[in-house]
Amino acid sequence: MLCQKQQDLDEMVAEAKKEAKKGEVATYIPALAKADPNILAVSIFDGASHCFVSGDSEHLFTLQSASKVITLALALMDCGEAVVFEKVGMEPTGDPFNSISKLEAQFPSKPLNPMINAGALAVSSLIKGETAQDKLQYLLHFIHRLSGNKHITYNKEVARSEYETADLNRALAYFLKQHHIIEGDVNLLIEFYTMQCAIELTCDDLAKIGFVLANEGRNHEGEVIMPYEIARLVKTFMVTCGMYNASGEFAIKVGIPAKSGVSGCILGAVPNRLGIGIYGPALDEKGNSYAGMKILELLAAHYHLSIF
Ligand code: GLU
Repeated sequence: MLCQKQQDLDEMVAEAKKEAKKGEVATYIPALAKADPNILAVSIFDGASHCFVSGDSEHLFTLQSASKVITLALALMDCGEAVVFEKVGMEPTGDPFNSISKLEAQFPSKPLNPMINAGALAVSSLIKGETAQDKLQYLLHFIHRLSGNKHITYNKEVARSEYETADLNRALAYFLKQHHIIEGDVNLLIEFYTMQCAIELTCDDLAKIGFVLANEGRNHEGEVIMPYEIARLVKTFMVTCGMYNASGEFAIKVGIPAKSGVSGCILGAVPNRLGIGIYGPALDEKGNSYAGMKILELLAAHYHLSIF
């Protein structure tokens, strides 16, 4: 049975990998341009002791926007819904993840949701800590608990590369500061945000984090890592806004709560069933992994994983 499952997964990965040829790796963060576009790795965790893997699953990659799900959960745990949603809304946007346009069109000027960069910056400003390093260590501690891997840290080269080129994110942050959505030093926030995005892990780690979300906030040993209500709320954002401005089509074609990052990773959480970690750095024009989206489509169809 297990052999059959492995064979099925390997076949789906081989099929999905063909999609990678259509895409390109992100280059606007110079360090990400070094990624191998042909890689595809998948890890699936159902709470048993091992992850079910196929492809280059030991490959390290950075979380990028998938980190937004984790900072949102942490900010909600520390500050509560009232404080978080005073700074960021709950509505999807049809705009690209780094767009500034809706901020000016909205009154008050708060970001539409926590999965776009403006919203994520507002959420990251709520993470506890005096310095960017303090905030990072606090976030890493939470990620260690979510994944069960205490060795997860961040990639300094990727963080520096983004920090040096993050002019658009700086502009978003200054706009938010002017409109009292964030307070404090913008450069400290950008330093923390770029380190947060550069947190580096494997597909197995990502699948275990997805499992906690899928399992109503408990890890596979039954330990409560986050309250049920926060796991529910975060998964809802993953459905409505997790796959950038392709979230609607993804919900129809795949139907799995998921969040992607421009490194090519995708964090998936199938409620009460599975955590999924994917890495495939060749992206489509919206920033989603071509092969990653395809493997999720194949998995969802084969194992009936859509929540709808
Ligand atoms: N660090 C990236 C940025 O802010 C994350 C974007 C993403 O993965 O969507 O541009």
